[in-house]
Amino acid sequence: MKYSIFYDGSFQEHEGDYFKVYDPSNGNVLGEVPNASESDMEKTIESAYKGFEFWRDKTAEYRCDLLEKLYDLVIEEKENLAKIMTMENGKPYLESLGEIVYGANFLKWYSEEGKRIYGQFIPASSENKRIMVRKQPVGLVYGITPWNFPFAMITRKLAPALAAGCTFIIKPAAETPLTALKFFELVERVGFPKGVCSLITGDAKTLTEVAMKDSRVRKITFTGSTAVGKLLMKQSSETVKKISLELGGHAPLIVFDDADIDKAIKGTLASKFRNCGQVCIATNRVLVHEKIHDLYLEKLTEQVLKMKIGNGFEDQVKIGPVINKKGVDKIDGQVKDAIEKGAKLVCGGESKHVGDNDDVGHFYKPTILDGVTRDMAIFYDETFGPVIPVITFKDDQEAIDLANDTPYGLASYFFTESISKAFVVAEKLDYGMVGLNTGAISAAQAPFGGVKESGIGREGGHFGIEEYLETKYVCLEI
Ligand code: ADP
Repeated sequence: MKYSIFYDGSFQEHEGDYFKVYDPSNGNVLGEVPNASESDMEKTIESAYKGFEFWRDKTAEYRCDLLEKLYDLVIEEKENLAKIMTMENGKPYLESLGEIVYGANFLKWYSEEGKRIYGQFIPASSENKRIMVRKQPVGLVYGITPWNFPFAMITRKLAPALAAGCTFIIKPAAETPLTALKFFELVERVGFPKGVCSLITGDAKTLTEVAMKDSRVRKITFTGSTAVGKLLMKQSSETVKKISLELGGHAPLIVFDDADIDKAIKGTLASKFRNCGQVCIATNRVLVHEKIHDLYLEKLTEQVLKMKIGNGFEDQVKIGPVINKKGVDKIDGQVKDAIEKGAKLVCGGESKHVGDNDDVGHFYKPTILDGVTRDMAIFYDETFGPVIPVITFKDDQEAIDLANDTPYGLASYFFTESISKAFVVAEKLDYGMVGLNTGAISAAQAPFGGVKESGIGREGGHFGIEEYLETKYVCLEI
């Protein structure tokens, strides 16, 4: 099947070439998607810019009603969207379904929050002056999203942008554009005015350079690697665009000696194995107190050995394929490097290839490495795979130092039954998010985001809509 890009309120005939999208569990071709040109991007920007002139002046109620309709359609179509997601991303079907509902929640939440964008009156210093502050949409927004959450990463940006009165162009990842394209069928059915939402596919670098040079694009919002995030920061300086970045992570998970071990195991599994560990908030290092190390490891291994690997549509499958060969090679390289430097392989450490396509169809067994140390690549580099490196510590300060020893600062997790420790450690972790006695932290109403090299800005909740608003100060003399 051949797909089209979407701008000016409808899917457009495509005259150029296409690229293929593959099923990562077997290498089958799922469809062909337009390789949009620079001129396609220019037309999309033109339409979105015109759309902004109209959309910004509509009432919040009007905008939010359309977002709510979109939410209803997504829920109606959730199974179809989830099937497409499992086909192109590989994650287990129930996880895909969970992501659709999670992603839809952003549409619902911002369809409510969009009505609560308030300004302020500030007491002036002279009797004949009035100081007013209004919140206005930043303008045309260009969003770039990754393949690991093909739906939720889009709605988390699109919903607050539209609710704020911005227009929005999305460029989904080349590996997983089909969920986005299906979503845009629903966008079309809702009947947003022309230029309000657009979807473009093609070479990320080429399309993004067009957007970066164009001063009508006022904001870039990106989820992806730290390397590309840094590049976008540089490029956006040319026209001083606003920028939100949600980049890589290297989440520590600390199990203190007073932790509820079963809770810690549940949290480890939840934060590690979703989407085969290909998640920026996935646990990348488990730090466990030496007193409970053996018990924790024994219980964890028992659970990990039960996990079924396979095609995401098969019953009971918990671990789908790794997205591509580059991904599996990175995982395998880190595991081998750790073993060579003295880590003990507790379980896993094997990969398998299915099908004839060398690049996709790779599976990696859930793996535990014990005795990981700072000289191993896995201690510092993001893994993006189903591997748990275990590190032992002796006291609380050592755990905090180990946890903070990374350029990243996205998510962190820790387990303790002590209320004082809970407060102190939550304050000391240099991370944007902390899961305390839980491994599942994402929610539409909560501010998601990182510090240090994990990014700039927050997505979700009332913090998330601020990213799409400018503050305008009006001073009146009467
Ligand atoms: P990953 O390694 O997880 O694929 P990337 O940061 O490379 O992470 O990709 C995330 C998103 O960024 C994707 O939509 C991809 O197409 C896009 N991307 C990659 N390179 C560039 C670039 N040079 N400019 C703009 N977007 C890019």
